[in-house]
Amino acid sequence: MDFLTLFLLYLCSVLAVAALLCLCSGRQESFLARSVARASQVLSLVIPSQLQRVAQRALHRLFHTRSCLFVVLHVALQAAVFGEYTWEVFVYCWELQFPLLLLLLPYLLLAANLGCFLLCSRADPGTVTKSNAASLAKVYAYDGVLFQRGLVCPTCTLEKPARSKHCSVCRTCVHRFDHHCVWVNNCIGAGNAGAFLLYLLSLTATAGAVAAVTAALLIHVLLLSNAVHGTYLDAQGQEQPVGIPLLVQHLFLTFPRIVFMLGFVILLTLILGGYCSFSLYLALTNQTTNEWCKSRRFGSSPHLPSQPHDRPLVYKNIYSKGIWRNLKEIFNPPTVLERKKKT
Ligand SMILES: [Zn+2]
Ligand SMILES: [Zn+2]
Repeated sequence: MDFLTLFLLYLCSVLAVAALLCLCSGRQESFLARSVARASQVLSLVIPSQLQRVAQRALHRLFHTRSCLFVVLHVALQAAVFGEYTWEVFVYCWELQFPLLLLLLPYLLLAANLGCFLLCSRADPGTVTKSNAASLAKVYAYDGVLFQRGLVCPTCTLEKPARSKHCSVCRTCVHRFDHHCVWVNNCIGAGNAGAFLLYLLSLTATAGAVAAVTAALLIHVLLLSNAVHGTYLDAQGQEQPVGIPLLVQHLFLTFPRIVFMLGFVILLTLILGGYCSFSLYLALTNQTTNEWCKSRRFGSSPHLPSQPHDRPLVYKNIYSKGIWRNLKEIFNPPTVLERKKKT
C-alpha cells in the first residue's frame, strides 16, 4: 500500500470518527438510537448474551444518564491538540519569527472557549419546577401544533410550558429545550442557549486558528526549503516537477505529528463550521433544534388531524420576531415580566 492510499485511509477514518462524535452530541438522538439498535441486532448474533447485557448497560449509562465521559474526551482532545501546538508548532513558528499575537491567538480563543464551556455546563438550562411552571407557561404562546396547552409531563407531573420538553437524560422538563449536549454534559435551553452558541463559535474559531497557523508554518517550511521548485526522476528516468502529493508526503515524513494534527483540526473546523452555521440559522429564525426536527414532520402541506372534525394542522413558526430580536432573545431570554410590559 503506497503512502497516498494510507493517507486517504487516515483522512476517511478521522472524518468518520469526527462525524460519529458529532452525531453523538445529541442533535440526532433518533439517528443514534436507530444506529445503536441496528448495531446491537447484528452483534447479538455473534456476542454471548452476558457480554451483550454488559454492553447494553454501558451504552445506556453513556447516552441515557449524565456522564462525564464525553467531557473527559473533549478535554483530552483539546489537550492533545494544544500539546502538539505548543510543543512543536509554536516553537518552530517562534524560530521563524512569526508575529507573537498570531501565535497567541489560539490560546486566547481557547481561554474564551473554556469560559463558554463552563458557563454552558454549569448554568441552569431552564429547569421547569413546581414553583416556576406556572410563570414559564406564560412566557411563550402555545402554537397548537408542536405545543398544545394543558399537556402534563407524565414524569414531572407538571404542565408543560410552550417550547419545553422533558429530557430523559436530565430527568426534568427544560424551558425552551434545544437538545441535550453530551459534550457539555448539560441540556441546552433558555438559560444557556447564548453561552452554547458562543461556545460553538469559539470552538470553531480555535480549531480554525490552530489549522491556519499550522498550515502557514508548513507552507513557510516548503518555501524556505525550495522543495516547491524541486524535481524527481520517474520510473523511466525522466525529470518531473514535484507535485502536491509528493510535497504532502515529504511534509508527512518530516513532521508526522504536525501533519496528523493539521488533518484533524481541518476536518474539525469544517464539521464545526457546518454545525455553527446551522445553530446560527436556528438562532436567527428563533427555532430550537427540537422544534426544527419536529416541524420536518409537518412540512409545508397541512398535516391530517387525528379526528375527522378537527382542522388540518399547519406548522408556522410563531416565535420569530425578526433577525436582531431573535438573536437578542438567545442571550436575553424573555421573562413573564417583559412579556407583560409589551402587552
Ligand atoms: Zn418532565
Ligand atoms: Zn438534558
